[in-house]
Amino acid sequence: MVQQPKLTPMMEQYMITKAQYPDAFLFYRLGDFYELFYEDAEKAAQILELTLTSRNRNAENPIPMCGVPHHAAQGYIDVLIDKGYKVAICEQMEDPKEAKGMVKREVIQLVTPGTVVSSKELDAKENNYLTALFIDEQHKEYGFAYADLSTGELKASHLADIDGIINECNSLQTKEIVLNKECSEVLMQRFEQKNILVSYQALQAPNSEESYLTAYLENSLAANAAVILVAYLSSTQKRQLGHLQQAVAYEPSHFLKMDYYSKYNLELARSIRTGEKKGTLLWLLDDTQTAMGGRLLKQWLDRPLIQEQAIISRQDMVESLLNAYFERIEIKENLKRVYDLERLVGRVSFGNVNARDLLQLKQSLQQIPILKQTLSGLDSGVWSTLLTNLTPLPAVSDLIEQAVNEEAPLSITEGNIIASGYDEQLDIYRDAMTNGKQWLAELEAKERNLTGIKTLKIKFNRVFGYFIEVTKSNIGEVPAERYERKQTLANAERYVTPELKELETIILEAEEQSQSLEYQLFIAIRDEIKQHISALQKLAKSVAELDVLQSFASVSETYNYVRPTMLPDKHELELLEGRHPVVEKVVGHQEYVPNTVSMPEDVDILLITGPNMSGKSTYMRQLALTVVMAQMGCFVPAEKAVLPIFDQIFTRIGASDDLISGQSTFMVEMMEANQALRHATVNSLILFDELGRGTATYDGMALAQAIIEYIHAHVHAKTLFSTHYHEITALEQTLSGLKNCHVGAVEQEGEVVFLHKMMDGPADKSYGVHVAKLAGLPENLLARASEILHHLETQHNQDLMLENEAIAPIDAIQKIPKEVEMVQETDDSSAQLSLFSDISEVDQQIVDELKKLNLMAMNPMEAMTKLYEMQQKLNG
Ligand code: ADP
Repeated sequence: MVQQPKLTPMMEQYMITKAQYPDAFLFYRLGDFYELFYEDAEKAAQILELTLTSRNRNAENPIPMCGVPHHAAQGYIDVLIDKGYKVAICEQMEDPKEAKGMVKREVIQLVTPGTVVSSKELDAKENNYLTALFIDEQHKEYGFAYADLSTGELKASHLADIDGIINECNSLQTKEIVLNKECSEVLMQRFEQKNILVSYQALQAPNSEESYLTAYLENSLAANAAVILVAYLSSTQKRQLGHLQQAVAYEPSHFLKMDYYSKYNLELARSIRTGEKKGTLLWLLDDTQTAMGGRLLKQWLDRPLIQEQAIISRQDMVESLLNAYFERIEIKENLKRVYDLERLVGRVSFGNVNARDLLQLKQSLQQIPILKQTLSGLDSGVWSTLLTNLTPLPAVSDLIEQAVNEEAPLSITEGNIIASGYDEQLDIYRDAMTNGKQWLAELEAKERNLTGIKTLKIKFNRVFGYFIEVTKSNIGEVPAERYERKQTLANAERYVTPELKELETIILEAEEQSQSLEYQLFIAIRDEIKQHISALQKLAKSVAELDVLQSFASVSETYNYVRPTMLPDKHELELLEGRHPVVEKVVGHQEYVPNTVSMPEDVDILLITGPNMSGKSTYMRQLALTVVMAQMGCFVPAEKAVLPIFDQIFTRIGASDDLISGQSTFMVEMMEANQALRHATVNSLILFDELGRGTATYDGMALAQAIIEYIHAHVHAKTLFSTHYHEITALEQTLSGLKNCHVGAVEQEGEVVFLHKMMDGPADKSYGVHVAKLAGLPENLLARASEILHHLETQHNQDLMLENEAIAPIDAIQKIPKEVEMVQETDDSSAQLSLFSDISEVDQQIVDELKKLNLMAMNPMEAMTKLYEMQQKLNG
């Protein structure tokens, strides 16, 4: 920043303030404008398309400046926040007219992407989470916390690694993370890639508010993260945050775990193609009637359950609602009348609530007894907890009913917000205001009578207030003893009388006082409601829960879903005539071909073959989405479903190239495969769609087979593996836990017809050329492709006859040691010679190396690499 030689006192004040907020745009209040100076001005002028001017145009170094009118500031602030910037709002703290010397100014709020609460910016059905990370460098451990300032939710956990952190950030879609110190470059890059703004807040001994909020966190890392989060919130918001709820500890491992890629690939909340909600599972499941319900649904989708009892309890409630159509419709109708309780309560505490908000709060609270009444008509056992938590708060709704005017305006300073009959003094003032006109008319008539001046008028102006005006021609009639002269005009005189003065005091005071009295009363009502914040929040949570459950019931009924049976201790899965819920909704129930997924105790892997576009990945996603729905407590799209409770879902579906981080499809593929192989347990679900496609045929096939063998031998997770390598289907003969299946297709007059029907056994051909034909490729190109295909197939068959046996690369790994063993056992040099007749010294070294190789200690990738090296050496 250019240092000016001589700054005015005001600019000095600006510089001191700006120095405290170097990373924020400083909106500096000057009269009716917020002004920005220097670099802030230059940058803001560009982003907000404002005219850049300068403060002291004639000076040697004019100060760049731009400004926005204060009443329109919110729109500009929203734009800056949306682009990931921070805005410090600096207000005049005293009336400039009354200030002695420089007007006192202070930053009253630092608005940041993670702390926005203005309703315009927030999508009602989305949370806006601010996250915090406490870094313990010594132990390479992390405390993690998140809060939504608009709803008061605060949660904290303890995470072991960077992947865990990024997963949490992704699933919370945080825009800002607060760190206690600088983090590693790797982590910083990950935040940058995800457009997460990094802010800092050092850990200090918690103040009383912070220790109260974090009192129940046993893990000290989690507690520290929550403390820095709360400290950051209070230092930026600069006000009491009474609605922040006591932090709740959570463990990501207490929920069905899905990493970012899996959630992305399965299109749970965002469509891969459009990035929108439409076309996702969230879109399908969302029949919530309230904003809170919408947000809770998203949270449940992010964290499906793994405890049997909790799942059953949600299913019971959904079933109960499904069995009571009329009550359900009634509940839905009532919920429509419930506003966003959570955010309304947030605004009460935050101090930006207005009278209309309170009316919404009242209307929402008035629905609670009705909802309760309807619910109590259903199975009481199933609903007992929710019924207890749905506590109406008549103290709050009655207070608002009595106190707030039904027709209240938005502004809370211009009066007309308090209902009549609520406050005696206010009623007197209002009486004076309405009756004042009448009194003046009466007085005017009385004075005309007394003086006999027919043209005498009572008038008002801002300088003199009320006065009696008499035209020059009549001043002789004015009773001098009662009339005091105030002003002389060209053709009239203005007077006041003691009686008029008295009336004036009553009327003017009434107007002035009633406004400030209304404001005071409003603040008192708000403070009274603040006493009920935690009860209101608890109530909001229960309403949200009821809303999600009715949404599940309603969707389940519309699409004919069934209640799944959960078998937590068994390793079997039976999904009879299952459907992909989103594809079914899009293509229509009639068009959708249902498919069974059957994996008894002894089948771990389904190897799926079939032409492109036949429905392989739809089949795989169908199972994953069904599992997610079941573990959220919803019913599922099938005729019958028996499911284990999965602990994790891993997917490798479709091309999710991480272009920003510069990783190729194949690298991403291998990383995702690695995640699954290393972290999956026997209770996990793995979906691998055409793994190995991103590399050369033999590499890909070798890896695909090795990965299947590894899962079969070591992981035992239920796995769906689709592949276009037909060769691998032979594995069914050697791996007892693997079953082949394929999606049927038939050829009719040279055209392929997809049946979308899953059948036992491997597919007979891949129909690639047929699919290309469907895609409309030129005829002569297709003819040439068929010719090449025919040639390749013939050649392949000849090769097979020559080799007598097709050895897939991994079979080769298994084969070589056996041959080497033979050599070892015979310990006969002639036998060695007969096997390796032209063996060179280098080759011998390789044979020796092979002998020592501990295959069981290697992962498939390492084995492949080693084998490749050896082959390179052998080929010279
Ligand atoms: P693949 O993975 O075999 O290439 P997809 O699973 O992507 O094929 O399916 C291709 C298209 O076929 C889908 O977009 C969908 O419209 C349709 N489809 C898939 N399965 C079914 C089904 N069971 N019933 C009806 N249409 C289906």
